[in-house]
Amino acid sequence: MVRGRATGWLQAAGVLLLAVSQSMAGFPPPAVAAPAMRIGLGSGEDRLVVLEAAGGLRLVDAATGNAPWKDLFQGPTRVVLLGAGEVRTIFRVQVGTFTSEEVAETLAARLGRELHEQTDVHHDSQRRLYRVRVGTLDQRTAAAALASRLVAMGYADAWVARETVGYSDDGRLRIVDQNYLEQTLELRRLVAFPAGRGLVKVNQRHYRGIIEIFIDDGGRLRVVNVVNLEDYLKGVVPDEMGPGVYPEPEALMAQAVAARTYAVRNRGQYADNGFDICDSPRCQVYGGADSEHSMSDQAVAGTRGMVVTSEGELANTLFTSTCGGHTEDVENVFPEDSEPYLKGVVCTPERDERRQVVSYLDGRHDLAYLSRAPDLARGIARLVVQGVVESAFITSEGMDQALGAERWQDWLQRLAPHLGREPLPRKDLSGGVRRGRMARDLVDLMGWQERLERLFQMADAAVVPGLAPGDPLPRKVREGGGPQLALLTRDSLIPFTMVVGPAVWSDEVRAVEALTVLARLAERYVDEPVTRLRVATTSGGKLESEEGESLELAEDLFLFGATERGPVPVGRLALTRHEPVLVHLNSAGRIDYLEATRPFRSLSDDRFSTRHHWETSISRKDLSRKLGRGLDFGDLLDLEVVRRGVSGRVAEMKVMGSKGTATLRGFDIRVALGLMDTLFTVDRQHGPDGRVRTFTFAGKGWGHGVGLCQVGAFGMAVRGLNHREILHHYYTGVDLVLLTEHPELLAAKAEP
Ligand SMILES: [Zn+2]
Repeated sequence: MVRGRATGWLQAAGVLLLAVSQSMAGFPPPAVAAPAMRIGLGSGEDRLVVLEAAGGLRLVDAATGNAPWKDLFQGPTRVVLLGAGEVRTIFRVQVGTFTSEEVAETLAARLGRELHEQTDVHHDSQRRLYRVRVGTLDQRTAAAALASRLVAMGYADAWVARETVGYSDDGRLRIVDQNYLEQTLELRRLVAFPAGRGLVKVNQRHYRGIIEIFIDDGGRLRVVNVVNLEDYLKGVVPDEMGPGVYPEPEALMAQAVAARTYAVRNRGQYADNGFDICDSPRCQVYGGADSEHSMSDQAVAGTRGMVVTSEGELANTLFTSTCGGHTEDVENVFPEDSEPYLKGVVCTPERDERRQVVSYLDGRHDLAYLSRAPDLARGIARLVVQGVVESAFITSEGMDQALGAERWQDWLQRLAPHLGREPLPRKDLSGGVRRGRMARDLVDLMGWQERLERLFQMADAAVVPGLAPGDPLPRKVREGGGPQLALLTRDSLIPFTMVVGPAVWSDEVRAVEALTVLARLAERYVDEPVTRLRVATTSGGKLESEEGESLELAEDLFLFGATERGPVPVGRLALTRHEPVLVHLNSAGRIDYLEATRPFRSLSDDRFSTRHHWETSISRKDLSRKLGRGLDFGDLLDLEVVRRGVSGRVAEMKVMGSKGTATLRGFDIRVALGLMDTLFTVDRQHGPDGRVRTFTFAGKGWGHGVGLCQVGAFGMAVRGLNHREILHHYYTGVDLVLLTEHPELLAAKAEP
């Protein structure tokens, strides 16, 4: 379409042309299917946005569809906010939160009179609360002092809050094209969309729908993605619950319903800024089209329009990453809330269901020797299943004996093909193997003669036992394999413990020492002999994988359990469903080696989370500084848990300082202490002066602990429960309804 390009006769009627071009809608933005969401991208603190579309980008007046400058922009195109004042951060004291606007206004007026400080009432539409804030201070320390004064006056919840101010409303928009040609606009609101098919790119991420760019009432540059609700959810679900990590359709469906309900319920939350909800964890994470994944797309489509309601209204579908085995009543985390469906529930299968979750495997019980050396055990077991080392050899008697030359040569012969090397010609030798000989054979096997010549210097000979620094290398040592030994020791193939200490130059190598070296060599240079699969069930000598394979178990199976410090050999291994394991199959296709890759934590549905349980320590000094950011109560002396909720979460805590005591409640405790959750215990180390030196917090869970437990939902889906059962479990007594059947739930809120 050509618009406003003057041809000969049109130029003659210039006035007419102008009139026509203004009334013509040049490039009306494509319609976004209802229900549409307006998603605020970014924090609103940037003054620049970079836009691009593969087939060219349109930037038009939102009201008329007219292009204020060029019809089409190719390549990266910038929209810049000009003017609009100096932006800065100020600190204020939040005195309290109230559900009644009248109570909040009355308090604000009284504090304004008493303190001679600026006071304001903020409406938090997400939480449906009124927050009273006092003071406008440049320094956090000054704000903390004011907060302490308010605590002393009886406002126990006073705390320092941060605000950004300084925007003015005289800002203007400027477009800068890919050649850095620019045009400053009279317009304050633009719409961006691709000229052709495809998606628009905003600051390196692609989005469906259209993009609005405007200066909001606070003078900030706002970038808003206007997108259909279901398309929006496709960019939310995978960022909230990664399908790669949590590949259970029913769990993703439950997440989709919770996210949809959240989105519709919170439409208009940021109406003052011209959008519905934000794209960050403050609302729910939205990554646009680049985040989409086929599994989460299916979860959105499979629950299309489904939302959670309670008594005919959209429910407050809070969700938390990991609840640590039990969720919490909402009022113990967010004291102003009291939704009856946000009740703490267990996140664990019932007793007889637990039997279905766990199964046991039995393997070799003659692993006493390997148990003594867990850091070698895995490598040695792998040499056995690969046919390098005789299975019967892994006993205390076998391992501790001197390594004979015959056996040494057998092992090297059998290892060579795994290393992709030619076997060494056998030599007719008798007797034992000394350290130098072992090193020479390994250098020969690996073909490292050149490495030795070029990379070994006399100065490196320091690791040859018995040789003083600066000594020349005696002929006997050189020919006996000294340089080879030095090289391999330096490169960590031969352990230092084998060449220092009680081991002397002439000692014969023991079998376990040789196996240690070969295991290290194999770990570094042999392709992983194992494959990864996830366990569905085990029974009757068989293992069914989630990938759909049915594998028989060999009788003399090596089993390794996972610990925080690495794998350890075990005779019996407990496995839960969906456990990722590494297996080796013997020539008959049976599993003869199985290694768990994740420590066995629990049978709880949220056991898959790395944050299922945790521990963290912080010195009293550091914690004092951290807490001092919110309140000046002097030197931190101690903490006291006053009250716990149904899950054990700390609902109320006293902070005792040299200048006074403060009380923290619910989620504020987590924020103030910087912990992962409020489900924790505190213990203390005391210093010689009798004061607390260090606090140790041991805890479970990650998040706020209220509503749907995301990892728990995954665990429930692994147990075969569907998305309806999952939602009804975490949201007590709610209804699941379709928006198409309840259009009243969609009453539009945010206006452009
Ligand atoms: Zn849970």
